[in-house]
Amino acid sequence: MRTKPKFKERVSLAKYSHYKIGGPARFFFEPKDERETAWAVKEAKKRKLAIFILSGGTNLLISDEGFDGLVIHPAMRSIKAKMKDGTVEVGAGATMADLLKLSAAKGLSGLEWAGGLPGTVGGAVRGNAGCFGGETKDAIVSVRSFNMGTMKFVTRTAAQCAFHYRDSIFKRNSRKRNGAEIVLSATFRLARGDKRAIAKAIREKIEYRRNVHPLDYPNIGSTFKNVPLHAVHKKGSSRYARAVKSGVIMFRGSRFSVKTDPLPVISAAKLISESGLRGVSMGGAMISPMHPNFIVNVLNAGSYDVVRLIMLAKIEVRRKFGVDLEEEVQVI
Ligand SMILES: Cc1cc2nc3c(=O)[nH]c(=O)nc-3n(C[C@H](O)[C@H](O)[C@H](O)COP(=O)(O)OP(=O)(O)OC[C@H]3O[C@@H](n4cnc5c(N)ncnc54)[C@H](O)[C@@H]3O)c2cc1C
Repeated sequence: MRTKPKFKERVSLAKYSHYKIGGPARFFFEPKDERETAWAVKEAKKRKLAIFILSGGTNLLISDEGFDGLVIHPAMRSIKAKMKDGTVEVGAGATMADLLKLSAAKGLSGLEWAGGLPGTVGGAVRGNAGCFGGETKDAIVSVRSFNMGTMKFVTRTAAQCAFHYRDSIFKRNSRKRNGAEIVLSATFRLARGDKRAIAKAIREKIEYRRNVHPLDYPNIGSTFKNVPLHAVHKKGSSRYARAVKSGVIMFRGSRFSVKTDPLPVISAAKLISESGLRGVSMGGAMISPMHPNFIVNVLNAGSYDVVRLIMLAKIEVRRKFGVDLEEEVQVI
């Protein structure tokens, strides 16, 4: 017999945060299937509770105050591969690491770029996570979600998900007052490939990340987005064109590479570094000397320590370069 689902109360979110930072959720629920997801939303609405979806917590700075509402932590983690047509149906709560493990074991190619990408499939779909030239959208066939406004289940084709750079219909709808959606599952189409070659390609990405990211400390990845070149040189100007062509600019006494990401950008890490902030710390948080766009939790940092470093980086980069850094991470 099915036991009646029940919200947990006052659950510490630090445990669910990649940062190991965050106060308690007033209510907390881990739906194991679509039915429980719909039940939780209905129950929260009945009790007039705000809802937040927390998955891998790899892109979130959670306040020490916690969340005064219901935190839904999707626990649909099944991964089903159909070798006949190379499709893999994955629950939103499965980790990208587990999906990659399966793809290597079955010899299914198309997601190797995601080696070392932390977080869940739901989070990756919502933000169209990407790196090394790949994006989540590239292998998506369809996505199933639950609309918390209409209380209806929706299945969309990849085209209907309207994926863009680090963006999707799910991300855009989450800003709507009455149309936020919970990603429930996604179906990917992968190609038959050589098991060993797939495993090797994944391992290489993991190794690369280990060498360039400060992974020894809890972190939530890049704090700021890279800065569009047009924030420095006017788009269409000869200086802009020259910078794109040469791949380098001198700007207020510092030399910056111009990367394509996918539009021409300069590195937020370099801007922070050139503002003299490498290794600067507040409380238990520190701007990583290894990769200054990472703020790492070195010693039981509180959310306010990280917020103060975010503010400091914005102020100093603005002062030195006249450029506004924009957060990549979400603060709740
Ligand atoms: C070391 C490190 C490296 C990283 N490198 C990259 C990288 O190379 N490329 C990249 O794109 N990102 C990168 N990230 C950021 C992060 O890993 C991704 O954005 C990831 O896809 C987020 O997934 P998550 O499950 O952790 O989501 P969370 O952090 O839990 O949530 C992020 C957002 O998505 C929403 N959300 C989560 N799950 C769902 C769901 N099922 N339905 C609806 N909304 C949902 C949340 O409400 C929140 O708004 C990195 C992070 C770290 C820590």
